[in-house]
Amino acid sequence: MATYSLHTHSSYCDGEAAMEDVVLTAIEKGIHHVGFSSHAPLPFETDWTMPPQDLDRYLAEAADLRQRYGDRITIRVGLEVDYVPHPEVADFQAHHVYARALDYRIGSVHFLGDGYPPASFDGSEEEFRRILKQSYGGDMETMSANYYGRVAEMATQRCVDVIGHVDLIKRWNLNEQYFSGAEPWYRRQVEAALAAIAASGRLVELNTSAWRKGLSEPYPSEWILARCRDLDIPIILSADAHAPDQLDFAYERAESLLSRLGIDASLPAFAAKTT
Ligand SMILES: [Zn+2]
Ligand SMILES: [Zn+2]
Repeated sequence: MATYSLHTHSSYCDGEAAMEDVVLTAIEKGIHHVGFSSHAPLPFETDWTMPPQDLDRYLAEAADLRQRYGDRITIRVGLEVDYVPHPEVADFQAHHVYARALDYRIGSVHFLGDGYPPASFDGSEEEFRRILKQSYGGDMETMSANYYGRVAEMATQRCVDVIGHVDLIKRWNLNEQYFSGAEPWYRRQVEAALAAIAASGRLVELNTSAWRKGLSEPYPSEWILARCRDLDIPIILSADAHAPDQLDFAYERAESLLSRLGIDASLPAFAAKTT
């Protein structure tokens, strides 16, 4: 079993529990390396990202927990950073996110469409459908192209270590109601994003939260994991835990999938370092 859990959320963003509860549960579960990756602050308000004024307290609390529990578990602090191609966001993140001392950053695309402040397609299916209709004229191929285009840009331009849930665009695609993952256009979009990721040296996560949300495959789907393997893109295992009991959600299922694919999801270097 993987003994790390590095994609986690706490009450600093939309997670359910205090950071200390995350650490205590991780110790109980026999996890050796736990990392915090709250949704990073943004220059506009949402109900799921950390308010900018809380960032110092977040980093101080992680440092305090490291002091208190460091002999029982390795604690890392990072952020899950949104990629939004807008100068106001880039400027804000340069000063408030990328300038901070963090052990790692998970880069994610949750926002799509052409409005600003932008809309997240991840929060509700109604919102996903609204963005699809208003910004892409209802055309799923165009929306997906914009999604994977942004994933590729993020890998190329921003200082992130891990690409979060790389095929999140399938979030509401239960029973392939919006598109088929076997469509040639879809495969081409994914391949282009993977080529950019491979060139960037970033890691990709196998994120088990897709199973938690009722999808039949994790993020990303099995064929994409196999392509990552072929392209030498390192894979790490993530639960995207929003509550302590999710820290190792479906890890066994994920590990059997990884071993079937011949993928070794060992502890990444940013979590293993000792300083
Ligand atoms: Zn995310
Ligand atoms: Zn997350």
